[in-house]
Amino acid sequence: MRFVFAAIIGAGCVSNAPQEGPAAAALDDELPTCAIRASEADDAATPLWGESEEGGDVDAPLLDFWALDNAPAEVWAEVTGSGPLTGYDDGLTNPRVVVIPYGTTDFPVNPLVTSEVIRQEVFAGTRSLNGFFDEVSYGKFQLEEGYVDAPMFVDMNWQAWGALGVNEQFRVLASQSAAPWSTFDVDSDGLIERNEAIVVLMDFTGGQGGAKRDPASITVKSNGKPYTVQVSTVYFPAKRNGVANGGVDPIVSNLPAITHEFGHAVLQLPDVYGLNPNPTGPYEPMNCCVYGQRLMHFTAVEKIKAGFSIPVVHVADGTTQVVSLRPSETNDEILVWVHPKSPQEYWVFENRQKSTSVYERGFPESGLAVWRVKIDDWGAYDRVQLLDRDTYANPAMAVTPMAPSLFDASTTGTYVFPDSSGEPRVTLSNVWMQGDRVQFKLQ
Ligand SMILES: [Zn+2]
Repeated sequence: MRFVFAAIIGAGCVSNAPQEGPAAAALDDELPTCAIRASEADDAATPLWGESEEGGDVDAPLLDFWALDNAPAEVWAEVTGSGPLTGYDDGLTNPRVVVIPYGTTDFPVNPLVTSEVIRQEVFAGTRSLNGFFDEVSYGKFQLEEGYVDAPMFVDMNWQAWGALGVNEQFRVLASQSAAPWSTFDVDSDGLIERNEAIVVLMDFTGGQGGAKRDPASITVKSNGKPYTVQVSTVYFPAKRNGVANGGVDPIVSNLPAITHEFGHAVLQLPDVYGLNPNPTGPYEPMNCCVYGQRLMHFTAVEKIKAGFSIPVVHVADGTTQVVSLRPSETNDEILVWVHPKSPQEYWVFENRQKSTSVYERGFPESGLAVWRVKIDDWGAYDRVQLLDRDTYANPAMAVTPMAPSLFDASTTGTYVFPDSSGEPRVTLSNVWMQGDRVQFKLQ
């Protein structure tokens, strides 16, 4: 089940902030009592600029970031409520991951890629798939090791294997797997569903990239009983024999594509790269890897939808707010700005700093990222646009952002963001950066 507003209050903090409206509270003595985030609240309450510095006056109140503004429940439901998500979002916090490595006659198993190597690079290493998910979820979500099979041998060549089709490939490999399927059946219904397990089929073609398939349905025997396996299957290669670095970094070099495929399998995120113009360009892992992208975090919008972030939702009321954000790679400080006259759209603000994490090096630049979201505007999904600092005034959500796009200390002045009807809805000004912190005014 997805977060609802009441749950947010419980999960965040019970505040003593004013209940009658969004944060007009002054910064000093009216910050909420918040057990979870008390230290962050103190930190965030300190404006970056002084009166003499660029960025100007400090008369406007600092947005009461930790007070959980009184966004109506229906607003919160719209922000979080689209896109079918699984895994963490469905309350099964950690899906089991089953890895089945296999070689063919022409692409045999690389003996250096042992089960232990796979275990390290998927689940345990300092630059692992699980490390990525742990970080982007602020520690809420991990990929649990379900099972890593010993590498299998398929007695046919790659072409003949491909001709079997993905469901038959899955059946052949899963039926030979020693995975303890019975232990994955959390709800004891005889089905292994995709929020209970994810299967990785790992070949040794040495290519880049990967693929994800929707649930197939096969029957396996486990612990003496038949189980029907209906899971998402992720395909990706490890390095093959004979390549120069065949024993070096065999899996994580492909991590951008692998995290993309797990974005499909775990979070049910759609591909974005087919859109033209592309609204998020090189700033979005679900565009991977058409731009030659490297590893990067999911967007703030995706983190919210996955339940990884609990953002502050602020309903514009005409007052000016000062916002101070630390890097979203390591701090769950994401702001959602809602305008009451644009109920089908909202704006999301996050501070991205590519230097903060090995899982973020592929992000093109550092600064304030502003995402505009149009609800249910792309089939069953929301349309998400990164507002480029040069083309932000385009109301049609039809611009591909080109670096530099983010707002930072070099973007002086005032920026008025329209909704899709062209009406001005958000005014951004006084963007200021100090170290890895970004501060700005919104109205
Ligand atoms: Zn994809």
